[in-house]
Amino acid sequence: TAVLDGKVALVTGGSRGIGAAVALRLAEDGADVALTYLGNAERAADVVDRIKALGRRGLAVRADSADPAAVRAAVDQAAAEFGRLDILVNNAGAGVLGPVEELSAADVDRVLQVNVRAPFLAAQAVLRHMAEGGRIITIGSCMSERSAFAGGSLYGMSKSALNGLTRSLARELGPRGITANLVQPGPIDTEMNPADGPAGELQRSLTALGRFGQPSEVAAMVAHLAGDGGRYVTGSAILVDGGYAA
Ligand code: NDP
Repeated sequence: TAVLDGKVALVTGGSRGIGAAVALRLAEDGADVALTYLGNAERAADVVDRIKALGRRGLAVRADSADPAAVRAAVDQAAAEFGRLDILVNNAGAGVLGPVEELSAADVDRVLQVNVRAPFLAAQAVLRHMAEGGRIITIGSCMSERSAFAGGSLYGMSKSALNGLTRSLARELGPRGITANLVQPGPIDTEMNPADGPAGELQRSLTALGRFGQPSEVAAMVAHLAGDGGRYVTGSAILVDGGYAA
């Protein structure tokens, strides 16, 4: 039997990029997987088809992480559909970079809503459906550990908030046997941050390994934490960054 057989996962932002890789990897490892998406219904349906092709149950829910009611409803819908939730992966994120003087209050609100408030609310909502052994895994960023170039004030601020959330959740939920951890990727080749984009060469040069990571390489760490590898890990921030912060 696969390591996550009988487990149920919810991955936010699972239609593309890191979230899609995580959803598929958890399904490969045996989990039934629900995912949320913002607007890309076709891409989300494609991921669900691939989950089902692996013999698992899959579900796509349209839910803007900026909308508190939508976040809560997605959690409840996934739990209703699959009967429980064992693994929450807070992955959906807004990658807004730019000079500090050019970022508006609306930019700040939107980024904090999606990157910070949504993981908080999803963790809160999932607890009603999560038993002992539950795992809350949030996708942060290596930019919490190293700010290597200008333009990351807002994004870095938002991702750093997740360190505090993760440690506090670990303390509060430990007595219930639920863990909380943060996975902090370095430059990963996705539509948000293409390796062949204008900032690609700079980011590549900032890593120790001299290359971008693949979404599957982040998914492997998430799967490790979701499975037996995560049993005694909680409150941790784990870089998957090719040495970007080294
Ligand atoms: P992508 O832009 O490639 O994919 C984003 C995914 O999230 C899509 O599935 C998208 O749905 C969904 N999404 C975006 N906004 C929302 C929203 N408001 N509500 C619900 N779903 C949403 O991003 P990545 O895969 O690159 O990034 C995933 C996470 O990893 C983010 O938190 C990001 O900050 C973090 N990260 C990424 C790094 C990188 O280099 N790529 C580095 C460090 C961290 P749809 O398809 O419908 O638009």
